[in-house]
Amino acid sequence: MTSLKPDVMAGDSLEIKASDAADTVKEEHDEDMTETNPWAVESLDDFLHYCCPECDVKSQYREFFVSHALLNHPQVSVKLI
Ligand SMILES: [Zn+2]
Repeated sequence: MTSLKPDVMAGDSLEIKASDAADTVKEEHDEDMTETNPWAVESLDDFLHYCCPECDVKSQYREFFVSHALLNHPQVSVKLI
């Protein structure tokens, strides 16, 4: 059927491309929605942070927090690290 009418086939592929583009836009929109949802995390552990007692720095990563403490707060207890 399609082999008998190559022009129609080309037209169909163009339509498919158009619908694919629409789907892509839709998916990007969904991703934006996910980014704006603060609860869109894989687990509650994502809300666990090290909170600096001397300033407002918070970090999920122990290595970052330790380096922050060492660089910015000479009073940091080495025993904790
Ligand atoms: Zn700090």
